[in-house]
Amino acid sequence: MNNTTMNLEKLNQILASEPKYRYSQVNKAVFQDFIAAWDQVSNLPKNLREKLTLDCPLEIKAEIIKDKTSTTGLKALITLEDGETVETVLIRQRKKTVDQANVGGDFRYTVCVSSQVGCPLACVFCATGERGFTRNLNAAEIVEQVILWARYLKEERGGAKIDNLVFMGMGEPFLNYDQFIKAVKFINNPEALNIGSRRMSVSTAGLVEGIKRLAGEKLQINLAISLHAAKDEQRAGLMPIAKKYSLFEILKAVDHYIIKTGRRVMFEYLMLKNINDSDADALALAKLLQRPLYLVNLIPYNPTGRFEPSSRERIARFKEILESNGVPATIRLSFGSAIGAACGQLKGRPKNRSLNKNL
Ligand code: SAH
Repeated sequence: MNNTTMNLEKLNQILASEPKYRYSQVNKAVFQDFIAAWDQVSNLPKNLREKLTLDCPLEIKAEIIKDKTSTTGLKALITLEDGETVETVLIRQRKKTVDQANVGGDFRYTVCVSSQVGCPLACVFCATGERGFTRNLNAAEIVEQVILWARYLKEERGGAKIDNLVFMGMGEPFLNYDQFIKAVKFINNPEALNIGSRRMSVSTAGLVEGIKRLAGEKLQINLAISLHAAKDEQRAGLMPIAKKYSLFEILKAVDHYIIKTGRRVMFEYLMLKNINDSDADALALAKLLQRPLYLVNLIPYNPTGRFEPSSRERIARFKEILESNGVPATIRLSFGSAIGAACGQLKGRPKNRSLNKNL
């Protein structure tokens, strides 16, 4: 192990031998003021600052990749302590109505985080799946992605704040449930990042155990299910995991989640030309999802080389069929595909080939 990247576990070890109030000072500095070096924390004694600088660097090794064709998506490639890489994305959207006080400026910032290095699910439309699975991220490595963007917004965007957080990057969060939920609780903690759980969303390929566990948490995080097909057989052709969990089981778990939480659930449906985008597919989906608090999000396919995206007209028609059958539907705005930063395009970089720029 080298000692040159941020390691939040190490931070706790060092603070364990310090007076209790040091925790609040350090938490405020690192997770609310987003300092990038210990010498910026003037209320800590010099010897502690030196110790922290030596044993607990705050550096996050990341390369930020800008999309020259658009101003809405930014991707960062983070190099972890063991040399593995993960990608995280910052999405900028113009606010629909600018509030009078103009709090936080004209833009809404959403951070998309990864939960694993790669992914074992091998969905055929997803670049992460193609890359294969390397390992789970620990909670600190998940949180680090958020801190990277918080620092970026502070330095480069006049102190703007993160509005929303989505667990929709590389990996399947529910295959790494413990670390995922630990990260959520930390990010939510008012003493740490203080981002409300209603402003966080997690997307799963439909892992029933994870849906059940989330239903038992006292958290208001939003749940999204990657459905992509209304029939088990069709779904299994796109997502191998569908052989393990049937739509019936998934919807049973979702209904249990809704009873426990009273929250809406979003079903993501990727629009693949001539694969799952016919009128009959729309009708089958509408039939399956005619339930209170169910909502569909149609996702334009971001090219990964295997399929073609459905046309705009087809997506609009598909939406119309869902709505006329009583299923509310929205169309996801896409961004970032020019830099491979859009949904399903994140794959990191093979080990030892990273160009690092330290932030
Ligand atoms: N493993 C989780 C979260 C990661 S993917 C899940 O499956 O939900 C986040 C969303 O992007 C999922 O709905 C996923 O199906 C979708 N996605 C994957 N590949 C895509 C692609 N090429 N274009 C658009 N969306 C894609």
